[in-house]
Amino acid sequence: MEKITATSLCLFLLIGLGQKAGAQDTVGQLLKDAGKDIILDPTTYIPNGVYFTAKKLDWDSSQVFFRNGYVEENSDYTISGKAKDIFETEDPNIFRAYFRDSATAFNAQKKGEIQNKGKVNATISGIIFKLLEENGIKTHFIKQISDNELLIKKVKIVPLEVIVRNIAAGSLCKRLGIKEGKVLKEPIVEFSYKNDELGDPLLTRAYIKTALEVADDKLLDQITALTLKANEIFKEFFLKVGIKVVDFKLEYGIDKNGELLLADELSPDNYRFWDAKTNEKLDKDRFRQDLGNVEGAYQEMLKRVKEGAQTATNHKSQPKSQQLFNVKVQVLPKRDILDPQGQAVEKALLSLGYKDIKDLNIGKEIVFKVNSASKTSAEQQVKEMCEKLLANPVIEDYKIEVI
Ligand code: 5GP
Repeated sequence: MEKITATSLCLFLLIGLGQKAGAQDTVGQLLKDAGKDIILDPTTYIPNGVYFTAKKLDWDSSQVFFRNGYVEENSDYTISGKAKDIFETEDPNIFRAYFRDSATAFNAQKKGEIQNKGKVNATISGIIFKLLEENGIKTHFIKQISDNELLIKKVKIVPLEVIVRNIAAGSLCKRLGIKEGKVLKEPIVEFSYKNDELGDPLLTRAYIKTALEVADDKLLDQITALTLKANEIFKEFFLKVGIKVVDFKLEYGIDKNGELLLADELSPDNYRFWDAKTNEKLDKDRFRQDLGNVEGAYQEMLKRVKEGAQTATNHKSQPKSQQLFNVKVQVLPKRDILDPQGQAVEKALLSLGYKDIKDLNIGKEIVFKVNSASKTSAEQQVKEMCEKLLANPVIEDYKIEVI
């Protein structure tokens, strides 16, 4: 995914603004007339009309867009990925991500469409980003604004695919000859270079730090720690809805404040999900491997993720179970406060011959039981009672014991 460059904007001007381009061929002709050697993709579905994607290999961006059949100068269309379109908004720090139904595999060599995939992936991503945020992992997610759209913070993507594997599958099996399904002793984190032209090659730390210079040790350690934490959150969440997280790919970006945020999407496009009982594949492998019922698998994952989110919400809103605690409060006059009752008793004891006593104070002990969610909350409640009624904080000290 790359931003449209000045070169491509010049091309918009070259081929003439506002020229009607009613069909793919017409667009191709317009570009050819402008002296450009263009390869056209099939028409891409978009929300408000028709975009044609034209590729020219020597462009940085390699993509040009035509809305509603018109070449546009001031298009808000900014970035196109293989499955998402990213639009600018009025706020320069916020983007709108539109999730399409289009699907690609094997570095875009296989192409197709999965009905309602955009809606499923946007919704699952929204739910899982929220789950991560609630668990202390910062992401680029702001909110879901329609079935297919998320508002996201603008970040500069670190060009690394961060892959975690819990169970052997996919390229790991191919590369090492390991049987699919082998449960790994501990999660593996690996990095690939996010570069379609090179086929996202696997990287070593040295490649990242020294050859590509896209991240240093500190950033890689931070990314690894966050990714492993995310893996634990994912495994727990998905297991509750009967899903094994086999592996997944994450991407990170840096925002305007230099903060590292988890970015991209979190959906069956970039995870491998297997049913925990049957090992049925419920992710993009159904498309990659022509297993059939691709739409069904995506819908099933949406159903399970919604179930998981609902369970988590119910859990949060349920009143915590209460426990009965025994409380003892001791109230005594403060050391420097006159205690006439104590003085009287001390005098009486001395007169009875108990010469070895001094500093006698008389206080009170209050005992009761209290229902509370935890010992800490019980102590807090009793403290409040002491401040308000059981003691006079100006002249008395109190000691609370909760068992
Ligand atoms: P593998 O390396 O076995 O092909 O993929 C490992 C995991 O990362 C899988 O869950 C796969 O979906 C995800 N993954 C790897 N490369 C890409 C990619 O380029 N795009 C997406 N969406 N997911 C990827």
